[in-house]
Amino acid sequence: MRAEKNSLYQQLPQVGEFLASAAGQELLRRHPRPIVLEAVREAIAELRNEIARGSVTESVLAMEIEGLPRRVAAGLGVREHRALQPVINATGVILQTNLGRAPLSDAAIESVAAVARGYCNLEFDLDSGKRGHRGARVEELLVQIAECDAAESAGLVVNNCAAATFLALNSLAEGGEVIVSRGELVEIGGGFRVPDILRKSGARLVEVGTTNRTRIQDYADAVTPETRLILRVHRSNFEITGFTEQAELRELVQLGADAGVPVMVDQGTGCILPLHEYGLGRQSSFLEAVKSGAALVCASGDKLLGGPQAGVVVGQQSVIRKLRRNPLYRAFRVDKLTIAALEATLLAYLSGQPDSVPVARMLRMPAEMIRSRCGQWAAALSTASVRATVVPTDSVVGGGTTPGATMASFAVMLQSPQMSAEALAAQLRHLQPPVIGRIHEDAVLLDLRTVDPAADDALVVMLRATLDGAVE
Ligand SMILES: *Cc1c(COP(=O)(O)O)cnc(C)c1O
Repeated sequence: MRAEKNSLYQQLPQVGEFLASAAGQELLRRHPRPIVLEAVREAIAELRNEIARGSVTESVLAMEIEGLPRRVAAGLGVREHRALQPVINATGVILQTNLGRAPLSDAAIESVAAVARGYCNLEFDLDSGKRGHRGARVEELLVQIAECDAAESAGLVVNNCAAATFLALNSLAEGGEVIVSRGELVEIGGGFRVPDILRKSGARLVEVGTTNRTRIQDYADAVTPETRLILRVHRSNFEITGFTEQAELRELVQLGADAGVPVMVDQGTGCILPLHEYGLGRQSSFLEAVKSGAALVCASGDKLLGGPQAGVVVGQQSVIRKLRRNPLYRAFRVDKLTIAALEATLLAYLSGQPDSVPVARMLRMPAEMIRSRCGQWAAALSTASVRATVVPTDSVVGGGTTPGATMASFAVMLQSPQMSAEALAAQLRHLQPPVIGRIHEDAVLLDLRTVDPAADDALVVMLRATLDGAVE
């Protein structure tokens, strides 16, 4: 028995042998060598195991060896499937950190591609032919977007808003005190907690007020000669309602001016759009924070601004200079791809074309248009085994931006008598591209606000084919 198995093992190809074959060469042309190598090793090992178990015997071995390229290709498929890939966000949550936050505009994608493909003048001044300043143009655009005076204000771009906050605290308040309301000692998510960041930056936290109420007098009473900064943190992912009070930002700025202490706003969302016009109520605005006279305002590039991951900062020139001179700035700086994408995104707003930014487009998409698209999807997707109907729902902005605020929307509701909503949702997640919906009361909801209308036709064809074969 053992001798027989040994002779079967000997018939298996070596990894090198397989790679040299026509099938191996073909796979190498289409996939990275290390991945092919791993898949070939795994496929041969699998076959060895089957021989060991006795499920592959002499009579079928030749056939199995012939089928080896198919095994390897399947393994490659699984490996590529695990990698970062585009998905269809049908959750109705416009900004989901898990799904990569903001999709970029076409102009931003083109800018990224253009500078990625070759060299660019990242730190090179084309006029003088000498070394230039990284991100100079995008910093100017930030000042313009914030409607600030270029003679007094400056912009700065770093890796993300968390980095901006840390850099600012370290640059302005290391060894000193920072006053923060107890209602703003928040966790933004992903382990970013204001008190921890503050401690790590080398500043001492001075908490004032209570969770629900902090008055301007609480701040005033806490100012000492050691005070370096008054910090306002936008509550971007939760609400405090009921018996509440919060000092106005302009009161903080006035207090800071009187006491000679700068005020910093971790605004977070980077919102420059009039969200109240889209039915989202009064929301924190990047522009208002800057206009309040705060010394420094920071926000994310990939939240409501709709750009790439970045931390954008606008502030007084003297303050921005301190941040730029901090050696940590070098550790937090952004690359050419981010600068290219951010520049194109800011230019879209400055040239009056907010609708070219997908996040802005989704925010402004009328519910009626979503209803009519859902109607077309539902008509095409109803099969013998799956019921597709149009239901009203609420989209949310998400991603730590506008807690509690929703927008009226519509969704395609998929229900199957033979399959649980979980099973159906899992099937949609395994499509190519994966479709991510929401489960609600044993149905899968696809909110089309967050799906690009240009993809509707192709998605309907793909889903129809899946749902036809959904239930055996
Ligand atoms: C989102 C958010 C952050 C973190 O921003 P990142 O760009 O993800 O680092 C910090 N502060 C506030 C108020 C936020 O809303």
